[in-house]
Amino acid sequence: RFSSCTPKVCIVGSGPAGFYTAQHLLKTHQNVHVDIYERLPVPFGLVRFGVAPDHPEVKNVINTFTQTAKHSRCRFYGNVNVGKDVSVGELKQAYHAVVLSYGAEGNRSMGVPGEGLAGVYSAKDFVGWYNGHPSCRELNPDLNCETAVILGQGNVALDVARVLLSPIDILKKTDITQPALEALVRSQIRRVLIVGRRGPVQVACTIKELREMVNLPGTKSEMVEADFDGVTEALKDLPRPRKRLTELLLKTALDTPGDKEQQRRHQASRTWGFRFFRSPSEVLADADGNKTVGIRLAVTRLEGSGEGARAVLTGEVEDVTCGLVISSIGYKSHPIDPSVPFDTRRAVIPNTMGRVKQATGLYCSGWLKTGPTGVIATTMNNSFDTARSLVEDMESEALDLSSVKTGSEVISALLEERGVKSVSFSDWEKIDSVEMSRGEASGKPREKILTVEEMIQVART
Ligand code: FAD
Repeated sequence: RFSSCTPKVCIVGSGPAGFYTAQHLLKTHQNVHVDIYERLPVPFGLVRFGVAPDHPEVKNVINTFTQTAKHSRCRFYGNVNVGKDVSVGELKQAYHAVVLSYGAEGNRSMGVPGEGLAGVYSAKDFVGWYNGHPSCRELNPDLNCETAVILGQGNVALDVARVLLSPIDILKKTDITQPALEALVRSQIRRVLIVGRRGPVQVACTIKELREMVNLPGTKSEMVEADFDGVTEALKDLPRPRKRLTELLLKTALDTPGDKEQQRRHQASRTWGFRFFRSPSEVLADADGNKTVGIRLAVTRLEGSGEGARAVLTGEVEDVTCGLVISSIGYKSHPIDPSVPFDTRRAVIPNTMGRVKQATGLYCSGWLKTGPTGVIATTMNNSFDTARSLVEDMESEALDLSSVKTGSEVISALLEERGVKSVSFSDWEKIDSVEMSRGEASGKPREKILTVEEMIQVART
């Protein structure tokens, strides 16, 4: 056997996929070195920029990621945009293997007229705005209207609905950004409709998120009874998690509330509700043709039943007056380097167990590998699978470890030459501590820094 030199692996992207892949590699291989390259000066991907501010417990995974980053055989290089500052080909030359885990940073578009009007946002941008993603800082969404319509009924849609309707007293104790908090204080939104093409049995959210909506202080639900025709009868055939979710929906929509609940609803000043069997067909503009004043929804009916049921248009339409439309119909990965195979139809990197097809030495994990679905735990499992494939390849010599690779040494020199200043993990810890102390001053867990320039400036102090 040749394999005597230190295996060097680099990972592109520092979200859950990047960190879980690194963690598993470091644990199962005794001398592998892992370098993580991240586009932003700050790590953790959607744990920082996606997970809702009122879900702090979900962000505890950051503790494990931090341990990985501080492992003696791991290095973090923030502020390095792979595909632009350095190519995947250059990384392949410098490392024995490259794992791509740069997530899904685009969004699926609705493809309807009026999508570009003022007042229409993708959930990705809206979430990025309230969570302080530098690229969404200037979104300044106009919340000066009574009704918001969210298209899509998954957990991201419910996160957005909750943030729009939560009492400020709850939000001000979270790490939501100050500009978003101020905009929400001024917000006129009193009603949020969460629209889906299919019916109650097909909603894509989970029970925890639905329960949070049902119990959200100061709000009550507003559903359409007729949407639930036949749902009680369908319950018995549903698998267990789906059954419990549907039972909660039915209870929320149809049950006569007890005294306490009635009182709660009476005091509510804001409403939310699911609108089923509706598909967006056009965003409606004001007389000047600039601003959103409503949305035209095409009425659908189901063909088939259960999870696989299909929505088909009936030909009817319904107009809903609203000033804000947020499309939450999915995130989408993009190719970052022309030399890497990419399945444009599915918007993922074609792979077998994380091994990129027809590209020895290239691997992928996370949303880029599976498509943008699943929670952090799902991402963890698929990232462990990728790490397992890589270790297998190192051990079976499917991966050539006979030549010494220069790793970060040559890449750092290249970056230097190109004027790219990377940010180390201890630089990030400076940013982290400044954010936490700024937050402390206003009773928040942190006050995020909102621009790349300021992040770098703090890192350099
Ligand atoms: P990401 O987390 O997106 O990480 C990708 C990383 O790659 C980012 O840091 C990005 O900056 C970096 N990157 C991108 N391009 C480049 C490049 N060219 N060069 C270098 N780096 C690059 N899951 C839960 O379990 N609980 C929740 O409450 C929850 N809430 C969510 C809320 C929202 C709004 C969203 C969208 C998702 C949520 N999830 C939640 C799911 C969870 O966030 C994902 O499962 C997980 O983040 C996917 O991990 P990833 O590493 O594949 O992608």
